[in-house]
Amino acid sequence: MTRVLVPDHIEGAAPLLGARLQRLRGESMGTTWQVLWADRDAARQGALRAAIEAELDLVVGQMSSWLPTSDLARFNAAPAGARRPLPEAFAEVLAAALWLADTSAGAFNPAAGALVNLWGFGPAPRYTDPGFAPPSADAVRAAMPATDWRALRFDAAAREATQPGGLRLDLSAIAKGHAVDRVARRLRAMGVAHALVELGGELRGQGLRPDGMPWWVDLETPPVRAGQVAPRATRVALHGLSVATSGDYRRAYLMDGQRLPHSIDPRSGQPVAHGLASVSVLHADCLWADAWSTALTVAGREQGLALAEAHGIAALFLQREADGRLSETLTSAMERLAG
Ligand code: AMP
Ligand code: MG
Repeated sequence: MTRVLVPDHIEGAAPLLGARLQRLRGESMGTTWQVLWADRDAARQGALRAAIEAELDLVVGQMSSWLPTSDLARFNAAPAGARRPLPEAFAEVLAAALWLADTSAGAFNPAAGALVNLWGFGPAPRYTDPGFAPPSADAVRAAMPATDWRALRFDAAAREATQPGGLRLDLSAIAKGHAVDRVARRLRAMGVAHALVELGGELRGQGLRPDGMPWWVDLETPPVRAGQVAPRATRVALHGLSVATSGDYRRAYLMDGQRLPHSIDPRSGQPVAHGLASVSVLHADCLWADAWSTALTVAGREQGLALAEAHGIAALFLQREADGRLSETLTSAMERLAG
């Protein structure tokens, strides 16, 4: 039977009963976005699209690993000792990322860009490029010292960071969630109280659908092989709530029969290999849902569960057992949402 998750609070705004359900879609950050909202005024579509695209472009312009002119790319290319002013959103996301790096003892690490790139998940070379070869043990060892996030001097109040030399920031595990939050906040500021915002599978819902129902969303589940039992379906009422899922099935390649996912464990320098198929996290803010889902995926089920419990994080872990079965574990905060 489908599990149903509902938040324990109700947002104030009354539903726009009978209003039209509207939809906009587009592409950003190498993936797709979609916004659904309830509105009596269809003429606003153009203005809303422009506002949504402006928010997404702002995040790309500041935090993209792919855009050579982004603030992040320019910080990464700066010489040792260079002190750089950071724009507001970049500084806010970096502060959150550094907090989670400390909190997860480096399972989540925004300074792991050099490793991410070596394993083919950065700008170049990509694991999809012809002739791509995974890095040698020596190359991984050589890259490790420059991934120490504590070597980054970051003055949050002044919004300035100092490049210690060779450190490569990568905010891809948290910036998408922040972008979803920005879009949702911008819509609300424009008077759109009822909306569902999705970017690359990460979602935030506010208010209600025009039929008075919450924005129901089914959690993404990993594909199962023929003959295997699918994990239990989980449906969430995204009412003042966000969800993000990290999983080894999303972006990965096979090497010598081994799956190499795009989540890198910066503590070992290797792609994670502890059999977690996916971790879904529910949080009021999509930034935290995004960042925690990556952190818990890298930490693994045992460490990840302890970490999530210690911080009251609502998470659902799906583990691949030796026989191929998927077994699930919910944190107590997630159990509470399940009623
Ligand atoms: P996500 O899909 O949110 O889990 O983010 C995955 C992306 O985050 C990867 O493609 C990398 O760019 C980056 N990444 C990989 N491993 C880590 C890590 N341990 N900590 C922070 N970011 C990471
Ligand atoms: Mg993430």
